[in-house]
Amino acid sequence: MVLKAHVSFLLFTPTNHRRDNSVSRSMYALLRRGSACRKLALSLSSSRSSVPTAATLWHQPACFSTASPAARSASAAASIRRVGIVGAGPSGFYVAKYLLKELGPSATVEMIDCLPTPFGLVRTGVAPDHPEVKSVQNDFGKVAEDPRFRFFGNVRVGQDVGMAELRGFYDVVVLAYGASEDRTLGIPGEDTLEGVIGARTFVNWYNGHPEYAQDEKLTTMLRDILAQPGAQAAVLGQGNVALDCARVLAKQPADLASSDICEHALEVLRQSHLTTMSVIGRRGHGQAAFTIKELRELSRIAGATLVVPPEEVAQGLTPFTIAELAQSRPRKRLADLVESLPAPSAAAAAAPAAAGRTVALRFLLIPKALLPDPARPHRVGAIVLERARLQQEGGEGGRVVAVGTGEMIEMPCNLVLRSIGYKSQPLEGVPFDNRKAVVPNRQGRVFVDAPAAPGALAAAAAAVEVVPGMYCTGWVKRGPTGIINTNIYDARETVASIVEDAGHGKLPTPSSSSSSLLDVLAKVGRKKVEEVVTWEGYRKIDAYECEVGATRGKPREKVIDAQELVRIATK
Ligand SMILES: Cc1cc2nc3c(=O)[nH]c(=O)nc-3n(C[C@H](O)[C@H](O)[C@H](O)COP(=O)(O)OP(=O)(O)OC[C@H]3O[C@@H](n4cnc5c(N)ncnc54)[C@H](O)[C@@H]3O)c2cc1C
Repeated sequence: MVLKAHVSFLLFTPTNHRRDNSVSRSMYALLRRGSACRKLALSLSSSRSSVPTAATLWHQPACFSTASPAARSASAAASIRRVGIVGAGPSGFYVAKYLLKELGPSATVEMIDCLPTPFGLVRTGVAPDHPEVKSVQNDFGKVAEDPRFRFFGNVRVGQDVGMAELRGFYDVVVLAYGASEDRTLGIPGEDTLEGVIGARTFVNWYNGHPEYAQDEKLTTMLRDILAQPGAQAAVLGQGNVALDCARVLAKQPADLASSDICEHALEVLRQSHLTTMSVIGRRGHGQAAFTIKELRELSRIAGATLVVPPEEVAQGLTPFTIAELAQSRPRKRLADLVESLPAPSAAAAAAPAAAGRTVALRFLLIPKALLPDPARPHRVGAIVLERARLQQEGGEGGRVVAVGTGEMIEMPCNLVLRSIGYKSQPLEGVPFDNRKAVVPNRQGRVFVDAPAAPGALAAAAAAVEVVPGMYCTGWVKRGPTGIINTNIYDARETVASIVEDAGHGKLPTPSSSSSSLLDVLAKVGRKKVEEVVTWEGYRKIDAYECEVGATRGKPREKVIDAQELVRIATK
């Protein structure tokens, strides 16, 4: 199950990883100075010759209790007073759910989100025509009904309040802030040409994320491009997000009209004259990251034909790919479905009069450059792709990679959606692994790489120091892979670590005299407390959106203006 979940949202392998531990190193110095690390620093200074390992830091018994470890952990967890969760997406809600089961009656679990609305990517990522996926919001709503739960929306951690203030106030801080950046290709034209955007931008735009949906320039550009007669789009990447984008672009607007897609997006899609969409992958169909359900959906869109060039399928069927497919039934079924799709020429011959759209799955093509449209040189007009062949990295049994053949092709396109993965961003006061773009952690416990003591052996150099009271979960913990349910296992692991650490007396004692987060925010003075959205405030937004949606035959019409959201919530 976990394996399946990871496969389903895996995208291209990013090409621009940087090997850089500098943030971790400077963070180490910063945390060593911080009061919350004083206990840790003391234990370090008393045994400077041996850098403590993760194991020694996590598993030293803190007291001489005669109770069983499990009972000690449970009672200690009941003594946790305040937990702050940064991010109100699925991973934050699952941590809240499992933690509330462990905590005492007077504890509070407080969830902070930079948006006035909760639910993270369930609201701003999941496709509008997948309402069954969004119903998980009802489960999260039940978590929020617990009297010990609080929501503080419209508060950006790192801007309105810092980590130092949160750590001074909460016994435990759980980072669940997801991944809010794109991975990039690093090819010419990517940053300079209009019409080249991240799939994340497109998804946020049609799903009503205020930062994107309110971007007039973006809406105008998408309208202009899509309204061009014969417009063509290229989606770079072959994960499920790429298929979501292709499906939204390919569907008849009337078939989206009863979903919760935002009205401004529907209005642009109504004017679309898009004819062709190519969903492009570097490797073969045997390695594609999308799942069969999403591919089937794409193959059944009214007024659109899904095609695949047979020669690209044939080239992908290398002996090692065939052997790999034989090992996995789901992958074999997926490959069989791709192989059963019509060739572009056969589809055109079967329905010569069809004015519908064509969605082409393209394989073994490496994006090399984006070229300007000669008629509008500020806009993209074509993509240069290098044909690739498959190879096993490091010989037999190695990872299957795409290797350029030197043969270049040029494909016309007016819109390019880069869908090669999301990426987490560092947050001030939090360790960050720049290479993996995640918060470094072991079972959810945030750690910092400890510099090796002079003359230490290589093994000691790999030692880590746990940051007391700081945990993480979800995409910021494991990277941007996995479906919503994957966050359940993740949250359980993080909650188990918190409970265990409480049992071992390893949680710091917060120093703040504030009585509530609003108090903390007022002291910091960067956010007007009357603009903070509570759960009651969000329920007003929810009721308003559902009411407006009902008048349009939709489950909800999302409010896309952040100020309007706050106004509705706080009136
Ligand atoms: C386009 C797309 C479609 C998807 N579709 C599906 C699907 O159909 N089915 C499925 O099972 N899974 C789907 N997924 C995967 C699923 O959405 C993720 O597994 C899940 O949302 C990850 O949860 P998270 O809580 O880690 O991150 P997120 O959901 O991103 O939540 C993070 C939260 O943190 C907040 N935040 C960020 N920075 C700050 C800050 N500085 N201060 C305060 N708050 C902050 C954000 O506003 C956000 O609310 C999809 C993902 C994407 C990208």
